[in-house]
Amino acid sequence: MKPLAAGNWKMNGQRASVSEINALKDRLADNTPGCDVMICPPATLIATLAEAAEGSIIKIGGQDCHSAVSGAHTGDISAVMLQDAGATAVIVGHSERRADHGETSETVKAKAQAAISAGLVAIVCLGETLAEREAGQTLSVVHAQLTGSLPEGATGANTVIAYEPVWAIGSGLTPTVEQVAEVHQAIRAGLSALTSAEEAHLIRILYGGSVKPANAAELMAIDNVDGALVGGASLNADDFAGIIAAF
Ligand code: PEP
Repeated sequence: MKPLAAGNWKMNGQRASVSEINALKDRLADNTPGCDVMICPPATLIATLAEAAEGSIIKIGGQDCHSAVSGAHTGDISAVMLQDAGATAVIVGHSERRADHGETSETVKAKAQAAISAGLVAIVCLGETLAEREAGQTLSVVHAQLTGSLPEGATGANTVIAYEPVWAIGSGLTPTVEQVAEVHQAIRAGLSALTSAEEAHLIRILYGGSVKPANAAELMAIDNVDGALVGGASLNADDFAGIIAAF
């Protein structure tokens, strides 16, 4: 399967940030990357960046969606609206949303389901906290999140999993190669049980958490790592292109 490098801009970026997409387009024009490329900007920039990315391989995604199609949910945005604005995917269940907004795996699953119904790829995030890792609970926490958050009918075409240890996000810390390999292998096994052996091998499992140009090649070479979800380093076209070059 083709790996995916997805950038999560979080709550960063204004209209002037279109220059980063243009710079990324220029960087990718010379060499066809060995991965799919996506940027998930704040919702305010989806339409602008989707237009800027037209004609390039760069896809645009959202960072969250509501589980309903429309209705009385002030401040929320539905998957249908993201799709209408030019997104082809949406991140759901990022640890910052699980922590800041109290999102449970049940909520995340409903959002992922809404994303798929709207024709978007659901990028479902999982990951343990430092306390959970230190307590030896990593695999059980990740398994519970996977079981609870995976949408019905998940396939390689409509679902991507992102394993992001919470303690590695924005911290400059990364798990060892063995730690990443162990969790990704467990997620693949979990997907086999929840979908089918064939489908489980088509669902991309991204690693996320302090991926940088300097460590991307080592992380992306690990078994069952099918791409990266990148926060900080995706804000700068040169850094993100450096990560993409690792594929
Ligand atoms: C993220 O939050 O999705 C992430 C991976 O962030 P960073 O790359 O900055 O650690």
